Amino acid sequence: MSLRSTLPNITLFEDPPARDLFDRVGNTPLLRLRHVTRDLPPTVEVYAKAEWYNPGGSVKDRPASAILRRALLEGELGDGHILLDSTSGNMGIAYATLGAALGIQVHLTVPANASRPRLTILRALGAQLTLTDPLEGSDGARRVARALATEHPHRYYYADQYSNEANWKAHYHTTGPEILAQTGGRVTHFVAGLGTTGTLVGSGRFLKEHIPGLRLVAVQPDAPLHGLEGLKHIPTSDVPSIFDPGLPDETIPVSTEQAYAMAVRLAREEGLLVGTSAAAAAVVALQVAARLEAGVVVTLFPDSAMKYLDEPLWREL
Ligand code: PMP
Repeated sequence: MSLRSTLPNITLFEDPPARDLFDRVGNTPLLRLRHVTRDLPPTVEVYAKAEWYNPGGSVKDRPASAILRRALLEGELGDGHILLDSTSGNMGIAYATLGAALGIQVHLTVPANASRPRLTILRALGAQLTLTDPLEGSDGARRVARALATEHPHRYYYADQYSNEANWKAHYHTTGPEILAQTGGRVTHFVAGLGTTGTLVGSGRFLKEHIPGLRLVAVQPDAPLHGLEGLKHIPTSDVPSIFDPGLPDETIPVSTEQAYAMAVRLAREEGLLVGTSAAAAAVVALQVAARLEAGVVVTLFPDSAMKYLDEPLWREL
């Protein structure tokens, strides 16, 4: 049976194929932050999309699902092809989860300093791993993936999440519309971290098209070396080609320490045990909210802290 025929109803974004796991991607809850916002007037509301409700445990199920669908529909990912990409964690878990469900082999290039729980999850899901120089980070992992794809063009479908249009389009067609619907069209500000930039570009583009005056705020680490897993310090990184620097109205830097402190507050005051990129997004969402007399600030929490609990932030509390 061919891969394509295992997905008889596949379409790009609407009418999810009849696969339970794919049906479960997206439509995540929008949670109101009620306690860390206690100093704000009642006319200012702050919400977060709880992306760990996706089957692979992170926001990256959205682009992984869209990238897989596009590649299958356009025949780029055929029988016997291996999906290849670089990732430091969540995108790999998303590819490996959805790939396993579709019977597609997944090969990932991953910086060798990725945490043990993440490597264990990837191996458990059957992904093949090539570990890359930890000093070269995610840009180094991407260079190794590119070299493998060039060397073996017939073996791999190289997804390249940093340049794949389906990455931001996944957010344009799912995350953005969900936020519009879940706030009843009341959202005034959207705050998102920058990694591949897919979340900010796709959701931001959609929301700006549908909400006049919507302010789009990007979050990035305040230094090249940081502890905010999933986020990129854009000025010192390879800029993803899907990024549109003209789109955000503002970019606000966050230090690792600020995000760590917020991660602990979110756990203890809101019952939300989230990753540090989510905590960084919360720091900025609260800064933006503090300037307002009235407004609806929405951000997105990419994942939970479950994969990171062996890290000092949590171990040393
Ligand atoms: N936070 C985490 C934990 C992530 O895994 C990612 C994805 N790299 C992001 C934030 C950034 O999302 P995006 O790639 O859509 O910019």
